[in-house]
Amino acid sequence: MVKEIKFPIEFKLCPNCGCADTTCRLAYKQEIADKGKGPKMFASSEKKAVPLIDPRSATLTVPTLLEHYDTCAFCGLRYCTKAEIINAGITMQQSGGNLKPFGFPQGKPGLS
Ligand SMILES: [Zn+2]
Repeated sequence: MVKEIKFPIEFKLCPNCGCADTTCRLAYKQEIADKGKGPKMFASSEKKAVPLIDPRSATLTVPTLLEHYDTCAFCGLRYCTKAEIINAGITMQQSGGNLKPFGFPQGKPGLS
């Protein structure tokens, strides 16, 4: 029987070769964390934010699915390394008289 899957969901190994290292995690560890320039944290090279409700109907923050993608350090495959749900703030930009969703500034852009 399959257990109910809950967030955050982490994919710790490359689905192609089983390697646990990704290029961004290795780069962050070697250049930042190991040199004391920043805390140990989850790093990914690309993030995709998917608002779970229509951001035009919301104010301030919306529950957002945040998927992290990275590249396998061994075989080069790009794959989803983590999926989590965050509350992302939204900002609106006026454009031609209409308000349009402009972006999802997060607390920690880049590495999280
Ligand atoms: Zn791989």
